[in-house]
Amino acid sequence: MPLIILLPVLLLLVAQGLTPELALFQLLPFPQTSYLALISVLLLALLLRQTEWLYWLGILATHYWLASSTNLTATEFANSLPLLSASLLLLLALIPKPSPFKLNGLLLLISPPLLLLLSQQLPLATWLASAQLPAIVFQPVLAASPINWLSAWWFSILAGIWLIAINLKPPKAANWGEFGLLLALLLSTVIPPGTAVANWTLVAACLSVFLALAFQMLHLAYIDELTQLPQRRALMAHLNRLGRNSAICMLDVDHFKKFNDTYGHDVGDQVLKLLGSILSKVKGLTAYRYGGEEFTLVFGHNKKALLEEKLEEVRLAVAEYPLVIRNDNRPKDSSSGKKARGSSGAEKTVNVTISLGCCVKQKGETPMQLLKRADEALYAAKKAGRNTFVLKI
Ligand code: GH3
Ligand code: MG
Ligand code: MG
Repeated sequence: MPLIILLPVLLLLVAQGLTPELALFQLLPFPQTSYLALISVLLLALLLRQTEWLYWLGILATHYWLASSTNLTATEFANSLPLLSASLLLLLALIPKPSPFKLNGLLLLISPPLLLLLSQQLPLATWLASAQLPAIVFQPVLAASPINWLSAWWFSILAGIWLIAINLKPPKAANWGEFGLLLALLLSTVIPPGTAVANWTLVAACLSVFLALAFQMLHLAYIDELTQLPQRRALMAHLNRLGRNSAICMLDVDHFKKFNDTYGHDVGDQVLKLLGSILSKVKGLTAYRYGGEEFTLVFGHNKKALLEEKLEEVRLAVAEYPLVIRNDNRPKDSSSGKKARGSSGAEKTVNVTISLGCCVKQKGETPMQLLKRADEALYAAKKAGRNTFVLKI
């Protein structure tokens, strides 16, 4: 997925490297096309209510406008412009972004473009461009290079920091879109401003944002927010293309109503979140949140012994997991839950159990019939005393 988001910019990078005079670059009228691309993603982001993209697009538009509106080639400001824009993008990546329709959001939205516009007049740009460290290090090798290595050098440092920052947690589609923008800025350090290729860079950056938005929407449509597992829509799609040799399992938390009544609905939510984290780590099956406290597991085989082994593994993984109940800071995932175990006297450790009903797909069976039989198996497991599984072959 991430590579697809970066593809437009990466392709442009390769095309520009191989044949800078490519006829394709002259095909569309510029700069109109690039501004059209920019306005399109801006409207798309507004339509999909993903307003945080307005922050990025503001910087991108100002950057390209500044780079192409004046004849900047080889001036000190031109040298520092990519660095300034990239720093602003990085800063934005690391801070929380309020809605741009509130006063603080609006101020934050207009600040980076304003700073970029002002920096033409400020000594900052001159100072950044004259920082000689990279030039001293690389002088012997790069002296003859036409590329603006000074900015490229600073830029790679910043891009590196940014990459480390996003890798602290699993990067989302939005992060890869942001990375696409940073790459586009990197490209703009080596391409003369105002040329057809520079405008194509803006189009490619917009395409990256477009793809990132599409992936964000897919995520919203298919992934359950609480457990981060794919939800019922994704399950139905999977069941519709289920192979002949497969099995499904309905899984339900035991006495969950009582658990909620005892510890509160918010603690119940944390348990479901934890359950999602446990299920997503079990190998050999795909876990979905069916709804409420019910989950569905899909297996790509129908081997009795293997299924029994897996169902028991899942049952045990949940039953033996110690849940630390505190007044405020509840475990957010399986690893923090383990760390918190027994760390304070005010905590209480409890366990939840699950019941599982599994059945093997029969010839010609529809997804609804299959789900119904799995539900019946689950009911049988509940009747058998809970914290157990029933497998119907
Ligand atoms: P059993 O399944 O063992 O028969 O008993 P149960 O109490 O779990 O049964 P039931 O299915 O009737 O209750 C489901 C409860 O799950 C009701 C509701 O309070 C709780 N529940 C469903 N969805 C959520 C959720 O998203 N968050 C929380 N905290 N609780 C939920
Ligand atoms: Mg239930
Ligand atoms: Mg239940």
